[in-house]
Amino acid sequence: MTLYPKLITDALEKVRYPGSGKNIVEAGMVADNIRIAGNKVSFSLILDRPNDPFAKSLIRASETAILTYVGAEVDVKGNISLQIREDAAATDGRANPAPTVAQPLLPRVKNSIAISSGKGGVGKSTISANLAVALAQLGYKVGLLDADIYGPSIPKMFGEEAAKPCMEVVDGGRELIVPIEKYGVKLLSIGFFVDANDALIWRSAMASNALKQLITGADWGELDYFLIDLPPGTGDIHLTLIQSLNLTGGIVVTTPQDVALAAARKGISLFQNEKINVPIVGLVENMAWFTPAELPDNRYYIFGKDGGKNLAKELKIPFLGEIPIVQSLCEAGDHGTPSALNPDTAMGQAFQQLAEKIVCEANAS
Ligand code: ADP
Repeated sequence: MTLYPKLITDALEKVRYPGSGKNIVEAGMVADNIRIAGNKVSFSLILDRPNDPFAKSLIRASETAILTYVGAEVDVKGNISLQIREDAAATDGRANPAPTVAQPLLPRVKNSIAISSGKGGVGKSTISANLAVALAQLGYKVGLLDADIYGPSIPKMFGEEAAKPCMEVVDGGRELIVPIEKYGVKLLSIGFFVDANDALIWRSAMASNALKQLITGADWGELDYFLIDLPPGTGDIHLTLIQSLNLTGGIVVTTPQDVALAAARKGISLFQNEKINVPIVGLVENMAWFTPAELPDNRYYIFGKDGGKNLAKELKIPFLGEIPIVQSLCEAGDHGTPSALNPDTAMGQAFQQLAEKIVCEANAS
């Protein structure tokens, strides 16, 4: 079973706080720190006062709800801690909240995963955008950085082409870029800062530095998954870029044709380069088959069959899933409404499954 935060919060909605009649999620009593590692779930409950008489029974009720509604095999007993609401503690005079200490970005990001493809046009950005939305729908905190300097398409896929991120001043007078938030995903793209006509100038000037600026010079906050949509290819720029990003994992997207598979092979060995050594989360096969709307049971393997699956097997890396060619996926991208927003559709489900598999593999690697 794959666990994700929304499964836990759904179960916790069954727990009512005595007296208020509200469930503990609605009452803001479940902290934003749900951690999942394999079967182990831990998080905090937030109470208004230190001596709340219901504290122990709330913990027990929360454990029972999770074991009943999520599964008896979940390891939650003894893993729920208590926090006292900061404003309550401060006005109470009973506690002095610790001063906030500015932290570097990456320590607050649990998984930073780059998505690459050996060649352009295989659907890397489409997969990145939908995966980010699907992870957000599972309840994770997600950031997506569009690092595709050759053709930043994430702004269009999220319907945010005109967005201009603002700056905010944080401690010590440092200015940080504020990511755009859409569909539960924090977004930044080279496309927000560079006019398409200036892209050429940027390409030569930026290499890894400008992208690093979008990472460490932005207020990403706490994230469970930070996805980076890399530029297509496997040249020197990619090597430097990946090296500078301090990644926890890499995903490679391919289509089934031989040329794409050959490029994907290079993409995989780039992550595995001894200077980089990024764990491979797995391979995604996009455009795996075509099903015409009028013949929904037919699958036409127009680019070949199982190419991605066989490559993953050969290289002993996880195969994350297949996405068919679907007209609506292309249209959804063009209209700024990723298909993963509708988990009831076949495409939405495909991306949800892909997200679940990635959660599984990212935790394992
Ligand atoms: P890349 O980032 O690899 O260059 P994109 O994600 O920009 O590729 O996709 C290229 C084009 O193909 C886009 O118009 C996109 O909508 C379309 N596309 C990608 N995957 C699919 C798919 N599975 N079905 C239909 N169209 C797709």
